[in-house]
Amino acid sequence: MNKIMKKSAILFLTFLTFILIIYSLCSVIKIVYAKNSNVIYIDPGHGGFDGGASSKDKEVIEKDLVLDISLKLEFYLEQMGYKTLLTRDKDTALAHTKKEDMHKRLKLINDNNTLLYVSIHANSYPDKRVRGSQCFYDNSLEENKLLASYISEMLKTINPYNNRKEKSITGKYLINNSDKVGCLIEVGFLSNQEEVSLFKTKNYQEKLAYGIFLGILKYLGHNGDSMSRNNKNNLQLNSVRLAIPTPTDMERLGWLIESICYPKIVFAMNGNLGAGKTTLTKGLGKALGIKRTINSPTFTIMKVYEGKMPLYHLDVYRIENSDTDFELEEYFDLDGISVVEWADNIKDLLPENTIYLTFTILEDGVRRVDFVSSDTEFIDKLNNIAGEYIC
Ligand SMILES: [Zn+2]
Repeated sequence: MNKIMKKSAILFLTFLTFILIIYSLCSVIKIVYAKNSNVIYIDPGHGGFDGGASSKDKEVIEKDLVLDISLKLEFYLEQMGYKTLLTRDKDTALAHTKKEDMHKRLKLINDNNTLLYVSIHANSYPDKRVRGSQCFYDNSLEENKLLASYISEMLKTINPYNNRKEKSITGKYLINNSDKVGCLIEVGFLSNQEEVSLFKTKNYQEKLAYGIFLGILKYLGHNGDSMSRNNKNNLQLNSVRLAIPTPTDMERLGWLIESICYPKIVFAMNGNLGAGKTTLTKGLGKALGIKRTINSPTFTIMKVYEGKMPLYHLDVYRIENSDTDFELEEYFDLDGISVVEWADNIKDLLPENTIYLTFTILEDGVRRVDFVSSDTEFIDKLNNIAGEYIC
């Protein structure tokens, strides 16, 4: 009897060791797998038949608001070279039932090479005074909390009054069942009137997207190595945000920038009509000693100005992404300065060290210009020469 027990004990221990070895092998495989992933998944909540929450006046529907924010976030992440995927990029559900829709979202995030994901929602609450964004995470992974805390921290810079802390949560299908690092972001409350009027402005939507973007960058920076980046050449993360009070200052900024330009530099500009893209280019032209009047080349697509260095001023408003009829990218190889307006239309053609400028019109007429680039030196120099405009 004793012998049999001894035998069973040995068998059991062997079995236990075997399980432990398999388990640790699995963890190693899991880590290696995660290190090779490079996709950031954005999940705009709801869509199609499922509108989610809505404001009292029905003017803001959660599914539309979170999609707008998600598309802006996608833009920022792509500028930084991250491969970004969305569970939906238009007003559609992924299936006919809510249950099936959620299954599909989870499958997309889990089955792809996902480095991290964010699921974006807006909240609603019976007490109309409640407001502020908040991040929720599943506490099975320590990394989830870290990501949620960085995004919370960055979102708080928009609303310093907001004292909501990131919180672990159960009962949320997607985040509780995903095996990837991620969190759920409630960008604010559709039941709060003040927040609803903010949600209606593009400016506030941009701020929310930018806050989430910075939180993700901080998380990825914390993680250190370049595994997360889609770029083969070790893309570094650099950005500067400027607030430009008047058109004269915008021209001055262009004039200042000339001093840090070099041959083959490419400026890719995006932002609404009248946001300051051409005004900045005018200042740059003046500093280059260009006598001709610089105006927007909307109808000609391209204008060349002779100065200290040639200035190639492109306006690709009318060009579809990567339209091969125009060999625009050839200009990027010439020894001049290229300025591309509505650059998002040809984003696939832009060279790696492109300086991306996003212009935003703020409510009081001030223009915000976000510079994003992998060109560390340029961003550093810009920090020095345009210090007075940094916000
Ligand atoms: Zn929701």
